[in-house]
Amino acid sequence: MQSPVPERRPQSFDRVLSSMCTEPHPAARRAAERFLATNPGDPATYPTVAELERETIAGLADLTGLTDAVDGTDADFGSLGYVTSGGTESNIQAVRAARDRADAQSPVVVAPESAHFSFHKAASVLGVDLRTVPTDADGRADLDAVAAAVDDDTALLVGVAGTTEYGRVDPIPALSDIAVDAEIPLHVDAAWGGFYLPFSGHDWGFEVDGVSTVTVDPHKVGQAAVPAGGLLSRERSTLDSLAVETPYLETASQASLTGTRSGAGVASAAAVMDELWPDGYRAEYDCAMELATWLADRLRSRGLDVVDPELPLVAFDLPDSVFADLRGRDWRLSRTGADEARIVVMPHVTEASLSAFLADLDDCL
Ligand SMILES: *Cc1c(COP(=O)(O)O)cnc(C)c1O
Repeated sequence: MQSPVPERRPQSFDRVLSSMCTEPHPAARRAAERFLATNPGDPATYPTVAELERETIAGLADLTGLTDAVDGTDADFGSLGYVTSGGTESNIQAVRAARDRADAQSPVVVAPESAHFSFHKAASVLGVDLRTVPTDADGRADLDAVAAAVDDDTALLVGVAGTTEYGRVDPIPALSDIAVDAEIPLHVDAAWGGFYLPFSGHDWGFEVDGVSTVTVDPHKVGQAAVPAGGLLSRERSTLDSLAVETPYLETASQASLTGTRSGAGVASAAAVMDELWPDGYRAEYDCAMELATWLADRLRSRGLDVVDPELPLVAFDLPDSVFADLRGRDWRLSRTGADEARIVVMPHVTEASLSAFLADLDDCL
């Protein structure tokens, strides 16, 4: 028989190596508890959490380059984005906005095959076709293939900044050129990578002209509590196109896909970004990237084939039996579609935990 719920405890993060989520920052945890009984979906009734949402979006606007990209210093970021339930909702909404604004009879979304499975959900829910194109040998969108796939039916081009399997960053400026030429919007999915990318030297956000919308999740590398995702748009008309009238609320319209939303997620995102943006996140990036490089070297020195990490995510070949043995020792590891093991160097992953992992790996090898 199961023990009573109050006696049960969640997993420890000590052996979690494959999750894109992490332990919430202490500031996020406190804010989440404080704002548990609030609903940002009803901003007129819950004005304090609505204010925290505007602050979160202003922070995400800084992080994605939107602040610099839009005119005027006091841009109303409340109309340029909102806190979603996660990358999935953000991606669905970006596809929805593009579909509704496209001229094509049968709108098509063009995305590299490395795009997250949420785009398959979006295509299915929204009745659009998802046309996936191959990636190059390094796992980034193949530009010739993308250019060949874009046509009059294309409603949206997707680029991934930090792929789920390998942490690869697509050539966003080149994708932007293709999108601008074809007069279609470019959506950048930085759900996982977004909180690392401002420090990695990539061009990936609104500083690139053709980028129309960006997904970035505070509840992943941002260390907010789940659920806290983000959708940002260069133009106000994108969110306007998503808004529906809301007869029984005090406010007139709502752009989010969900109705009632988590005030805990919103408040935790505001709190942790207030605490860590930008210097704290820069330190996290430096530390995670150094650990990823160190780990890749250690794995190579054991004769394993390692995919060079571009962001803090290390994929490497590992025999099935060893993978199973390590899972048996409680290591939370996952596999890529091509069957490599992958380790996501999230803020909770430390040199100590990776050293313990390597010691178990040596045992199992
Ligand atoms: C995690 C992830 C998503 C989905 O985000 P959820 O918050 O799990 O809904 C989308 N895109 C990418 C690139 C991701 O890594």
